[in-house]
Amino acid sequence: MIEVRNLTKTADTGTHRVEILKGVNLTIPRGQFAAIMGPSGSGKSTLLGLMAGLDAPTSGQVILDGVDISGMEEDALAAIRGRKIGFVFQSYQLIPTLTAEENVLLPYELNGNGAGDGAKRAIELLEAVGLGDRRDHYPVQLSGGEQQRVALARAFMARPPILMADEPTGNLDSANGSHVLDLLIELNKREQTTLILVTHDAELASRADRCIRLRDGQIDSDESR
Ligand code: ADP
Ligand code: MG
Repeated sequence: MIEVRNLTKTADTGTHRVEILKGVNLTIPRGQFAAIMGPSGSGKSTLLGLMAGLDAPTSGQVILDGVDISGMEEDALAAIRGRKIGFVFQSYQLIPTLTAEENVLLPYELNGNGAGDGAKRAIELLEAVGLGDRRDHYPVQLSGGEQQRVALARAFMARPPILMADEPTGNLDSANGSHVLDLLIELNKREQTTLILVTHDAELASRADRCIRLRDGQIDSDESR
């Protein structure tokens, strides 16, 4: 379960301060599929990054399975992230010097596993996202949508209990977008993975258990079905 309490984030641009998040409260139970929507600039990516412990809040707390991760040391945070969270960045953040398959394997190896069985799962995941024949390609040899699917396979690799993704279907055509969404939902159902997805995609949001809308750094609406 993830609890967000009175979360604020302020950025200092040098000339002025911008309040990006203005006191957000949320509880996301285990196994929920939550979509975060809202206009560009409303604070969606910032909220997701704070929930994943990728950035520290200005004030407030993020509590992950009972542990307050706000203000935790980077080493401890990295260990928690490695065990609990798969994260797909809006900009993919693949490592340019590694192939698709090596990119997918990396977090698994960083968690202290040997490459052995990992390679089999990495290949299965690349096949599942439709890139079985691209596993030896480097990121520059892949389109934006293909890189996005490699980033998803990488996030699935360590079987994280929580998967967070920023616009996971944003650069995919509708067929690939639907396919990725099916994969995410299958993961949510089969492995009880908590899914928190930032999206503009109405189809994706319509299939979520819950839709949280942000506006100007605050929750504008929060609807469950
Ligand atoms: P969204 O993902 O909803 O489009 P973001 O969370 O990326 O929104 O950003 C929310 C607002 O905060 C935007 O106006 C953005 O320009 C601003 N912002 C984000 N990060 C910073 C930063 N490091 N410094 C200054 N402003 C920022
Ligand atoms: Mg964003």
